[in-house]
Parts: sequence; C-alpha cells; structure tokens
Amino acid sequence: MSKADILIQGGQVIDGTGSPAIETDIAITNGKIVAIGPKLATEAGRVIDARNMVVSPGFIDIKTHSDWTVPLNPQGHSKLRQGVTTEVIGHCGYSCAPALPGKAGILRDYLSPSAPWLTFIDQSFHDYLGTFPKTSGNFVPLVGHNTLRLMVMGLADRHATDDEVNEMIALAQEAFDAGAFGLSTGLFTPPGAFAATEEIVALAKIAKGRGGRYFTHLRDEANEVFAALDEAIRVGDESGIHVQVVHMKLSGLDNWGRASEMLDRIEAARARGIAIDCDQYPYTAASNPLKNLLPRWVQSDKIDEMKARLASPENRARIKQEIATHGLNNFGRIKDWDAIRISVSPHQGQYAGRTMLDIANERGIDPVDCACDYLIADQCATRVLVDSISEDDIQTMIKSPDVCVGSDGNCVATHGITGQGRPHPRFYGTFPRIIGHYSQELHLIDLPLAIHKMTGASAKALGFTDRGLLKTGYAADITLFDPAEFRERATYQDPHQYPAGDSTTVLVNGTVTIDHAEHTGALAGDLLKRASA
Ligand SMILES: [Zn+2]
Repeated sequence: MSKADILIQGGQVIDGTGSPAIETDIAITNGKIVAIGPKLATEAGRVIDARNMVVSPGFIDIKTHSDWTVPLNPQGHSKLRQGVTTEVIGHCGYSCAPALPGKAGILRDYLSPSAPWLTFIDQSFHDYLGTFPKTSGNFVPLVGHNTLRLMVMGLADRHATDDEVNEMIALAQEAFDAGAFGLSTGLFTPPGAFAATEEIVALAKIAKGRGGRYFTHLRDEANEVFAALDEAIRVGDESGIHVQVVHMKLSGLDNWGRASEMLDRIEAARARGIAIDCDQYPYTAASNPLKNLLPRWVQSDKIDEMKARLASPENRARIKQEIATHGLNNFGRIKDWDAIRISVSPHQGQYAGRTMLDIANERGIDPVDCACDYLIADQCATRVLVDSISEDDIQTMIKSPDVCVGSDGNCVATHGITGQGRPHPRFYGTFPRIIGHYSQELHLIDLPLAIHKMTGASAKALGFTDRGLLKTGYAADITLFDPAEFRERATYQDPHQYPAGDSTTVLVNGTVTIDHAEHTGALAGDLLKRASA
C-alpha cells in the first residue's frame, strides 16, 4: 500500500454503529479513511499512538446555533474541544439569510437577544453560503421559517395569505437551490407561532421536493407539548418529508415524567411509515430570550413599544395573573424565579450568573416586576437559562438508542468576543457529559451506544452516507479521547471551560485540528450543502 497521510495506531475503535470496541488501526489519505484493520503495515506521514484511547467518528452536533458565532470564531473552539466535527446550523426557524434588500435590520433586532455581536447584512441565501467563512468544523446550513416569514410579513399576528405563502415558497426555493440542507421552524415564538400548520406543510413540500429535510422546535414544549408533537408528525405525514424534533423536552412541573410517552408516540408514527427522529441536550435548564417567557401579547418587534407595555402597571398585573394561572409562556410552571438565571445581558452584564429571584430580593420587589424592569433596562435583549426540565426525563431519553445528541449551543471560546457572559454550559460540555457523566459514571448506557447516539444515529437522521461512521471511503472526521479523563468541566456558574482530557485529538476531513487538547488553527471544515445543489 502506498504511504498514507496519517496512521492511527492501536486504538480502541468504536465505529459509530453501536458495535463494541475493537483494537485496530486506521489509515487516512486525502481526507478519507482508506484502510481499517489490525496492525496495518502502512507507512504514514504521521503516526498517532492511540493506545488506551477510544477512536470514534467525529461527533455530529445535530442541533446548534453556531451560525450566530462562527463568523466571530471560525475555529469553533468549544465544539472542536468536545470532539464535534460537524454542526447543523440555522435551527428553530432562525437563519441569518435571506435578508431582502433593506431588511437586514429587522433580522438584527429580532435576533438581538441571541446574536448580539453579529453583523447582519442584506443578502440572499446564495450569497450567505458563498461568503461563509473557512471554518475548523463542517457546517450543515438550514433555512429558517421565522426568517422567511419576517422577510415577507414582519411580525404580523395572523395567518399568511396565499400570496404571502407563495412569496415564502419562492424564497425557500432560492435557498434550496443555493444548497440549504433543510427547513427549520421555531413555532414556539413569533412570527412562527402565528403560522397555520398548512403554511408549514406547504413549505415542507417544497423542501421535500428539493431533497431537503425538516427540523422543528415544536410549537409548545410545556403544557401543549403532545399536541405540538402531533403537529410535527402531521407535517411529516402530509409532505412525506423526514422530520427531526429538535431539543426534545417536557418543560414545566406539570409535564414532568412523560418522556417515555413522547418516545412511544414517535415510535408509533414510525410504525405508520413517517420518517421521524429526535435529539436532546443533557441538561435540566433551557436557554431562551427572557422576553419569550412572558405572555405573547407583551412581545413586540419594536423595542420601544415592548418597553412601554412592560412599564404599564395594568399590564404588569395582567402578566402576574397569567403567569400564576398558566405558568411561563413556553416553559409552564416553574418552582420559583430562582429557576431563571441571567445568561447574557448586553446592557447589564454585571448580573450574568445571578437568578431573577436573587435580584428581586435584593431590590425588595416582586420577581415579575423585577423581570419587567430588567428587560426595560436591557433593551429587551436579555438571555436567560430556565431550569424547567426533569432529570428523570433526561435520563429516559438518554437511555433510548433513538434519541440523538444535539447541544443547542453556539461555538464559542474562552477568549475573544464569544467568551463574554455566562452562556449555557452545554456550549462546552454536551458531548463529554454524555460520555463521562452518563456513560462512564452513571452507567446509563455503554460507550458504543453513547457514541452511536452522537455519530451513526445522527448521520442516519441526516441521511449522510459518507460521514458519521468509521468506514473505508468515509470522510476522516475522527475523535480520539481517553474515556478515563474525558469529562465536561463547564458549569452554570463558570461555563467558559473546555472539557478535561489532555490527550483528546480531533481530525476534520483528515486534518488534525485538535492535537492533544490544543487547537492547531486548522480550518479544514467543509460547508455541507445539500448534495444535489
Ligand atoms: Zn429551539
């Protein structure tokens, strides 16, 4: 055999299918796996000694918002250091394109609690992909329904007319022709929340016709979560498209303990022939703009209008009464306002890490008043963590072989502009937490299954046929780690910490990108457009 670029020697190879580890070698040339076998007699430009290491496919983060940070951090440190080699972006209905002429400002204001540091420009989806930065990891771009609806009808609180649906369809077609991999929705929040299911089915049919897939943040993840899941299944049924239910969860005290019911409902849909998968992150706290927790009538795209609504004593009385009756919008009932922690606060950064109850007590005021005051002072751009999910439900889903792993996090770094605030620890810890905490420490699942849920299962949900497994001919996206050391270190109080594990080494398309826990600076990632685009 001719000389290989890299030979990974003597590792415990877990191939991503769920099969147990076997000690074997892997040879890599031109970014691809060219041979797998015991004691390969291959010469190589570099030999990586993998004794005592697990060698697995690079992890696929099927659910991220790294499109908000990757232009500021193309090296994607927090993800690469976890062993993530591919991220799906543009989720929850939010994509950074298209922005029609003169309308980039609408997207910028709309996404201000999520992407405060990003520059938004008028651009087609084609131009967005054409100017996508060179990156360390691979990226799979989705086009978002909220973005399409904002471009066509702003935050209008009504169903779309036929003409408006056709305008959204035309924009979606352009995005798919440019290479969008799928359509995402975020039906929990305006403007997606104003859309009828028929509007989503119409767009899903367009996506399906172009070989795309559908990824949905359900219309409700709390008291109406089962109806919302049924809606997602209906979209799959009526359009024939593959459905991915992202960051699946049951929020709010009244809904805890029903994870297996959700999984059963998905299984029943599969039995009826609907293509559907789901993913989760392994934490009890969700992350959301603070404004999304308040009743929908309070929210407005015009910051001054929303601030005026929040200032009115009559409105505050109504907000308090509605929260007391129904719980928080999207999240249901929480124990108390200690469950709400400030994450990123562009205008009041000194409060990051503190809970709303703590701040309210310090000020001697009601927590709802405190939240309203806080939003006004922070130009409605506050992002919070909401502790609203039960650990039992999380573990039920972790034990299921069918639930993929997705961080719902951005690629950030401990340095530079993305190192600000207190982001959710999942940005840094999701994958080592599944492997270290849930597999190695709690023994909920064995290592081959843990790895399958973040590689082979995700690749199958995405329809990949050339990455996500360790197999000859596949892209050489490979993560090596020492299972005794690989642990998440990020916490809610101190999230900006890379995982433990000094030997962690990560290859992206055959290029060593993390070398013994150090980023090499390599930018070998590909933009994974839809195959036929
Ligand atoms: Zn979401």
